[in-house]
Amino acid sequence: MKNFDWITPATPEAAVQAAAQAGRAFLGGGTDLLPLMKSGLREPTGVVQLKGLTGMERLELTADGITIGASITLAALCTDTLVQRSLPAVFDAARHAATPLVRNRATVGGNLCQRPRCWYFRHPDYACSKKGGDTCYAIEGENKFHAIFDNTTCNIVHPSNLGPAFWAHDAVVVVLGPKGERRIPVAEFWVRPEEDMRTEVALEPGELITSVSCKPLSGRSGSAFEEVNEKQSYDWGLVACAARLTLDGDKASDVRIVIGAVAPVPLRREAAEAVLNGKVPNEAAAWAAADAAIAGATPLRDNAYKVTMLRACVKNAILTAAARARKS
Ligand SMILES: Cc1cc2nc3c(=O)[nH]c(=O)nc-3n(C[C@H](O)[C@H](O)[C@H](O)COP(=O)(O)OP(=O)(O)OC[C@H]3O[C@@H](n4cnc5c(N)ncnc54)[C@H](O)[C@@H]3O)c2cc1C
Ligand code: SF4
Repeated sequence: MKNFDWITPATPEAAVQAAAQAGRAFLGGGTDLLPLMKSGLREPTGVVQLKGLTGMERLELTADGITIGASITLAALCTDTLVQRSLPAVFDAARHAATPLVRNRATVGGNLCQRPRCWYFRHPDYACSKKGGDTCYAIEGENKFHAIFDNTTCNIVHPSNLGPAFWAHDAVVVVLGPKGERRIPVAEFWVRPEEDMRTEVALEPGELITSVSCKPLSGRSGSAFEEVNEKQSYDWGLVACAARLTLDGDKASDVRIVIGAVAPVPLRREAAEAVLNGKVPNEAAAWAAADAAIAGATPLRDNAYKVTMLRACVKNAILTAAARARKS
């Protein structure tokens, strides 16, 4: 690992100022940045530590919804009763991620900005298209964990559990940069490989995520995040789904269905939402919505299993969200 400066600002503004110098990187819990540095895939000239910055560890109900500071850890998220009650999909997503050890360090901001897990991307010897080369090795190579949607240019899958869960709660990502604050609806936060191969998030250089605001459940509503993993722990999801719905009598309304781990960015499945809206969210309706959610999948040689798995995952997320709405 190359030498780097260690910068410890006291405020988000000072952190943004420190990061304005080219080559510096923000450091949350370090669970992704440090492995990338150790393998030589990132070589920052300085790291700007975010721990303890004013306001970045708050978790509170505000006029904007529930504001989650970007330095809140996944462990704090999945032990918080306000999150469990008002943002159950976010609670589930944090609880299922990684391992207890990782969750104790991993932060919300870092979780959204973690880089893809594609093994060709992570291997220093493969100069694939994402690293400036001209080949996606996953197309012909080992692709059992890769994308089943939007998989032409680069076949990475979105790795963050919080991404789909935040979208199910109509989150807004609050960002501070050299030009001031801006608020990015989570649907606009992700960058597809076709838009820019070098990044996965819509942050300008030096921009800091300070918080994420989520719409809490209200009325007879429920949400849930489900994923299927190859291993019970120490692993990313093979497929994931966050669902939210409100009950109008016994019919579903205001449905959100967002899938993760199956395309380069989280995907909102509006056709599946349309299938469920106005229906009683029972098993048959959930399967019908799941069928709409998987429509258009284009699996690669080794990952057709993900399509079947995703169908069941979407169905389960809908039924859990519906059961929670009935109990609310
Ligand atoms: C074994 C293992 C299993 C895992 N399984 C899962 C899983 O199932 N689901 C899942 O979602 N994740 C999983 N993870 C990933 C883990 O959740 C992420 O590594 C973690 O959330 C990153 O957060 P961090 O604070 O450590 O980020 P860091 O490593 O500190 O930073 C990651 C990136 O984000 C940038 N960054 C950090 N904070 C900010 C900010 N506030 N504003 C702007 N940029 C910022 C950094 O500069 C860096 O580029 C797993 C990790 C491991 C090691
Ligand atoms: S999927 Fe993307 S990151 Fe992986 S080898 Fe292909 S271009 Fe590289």
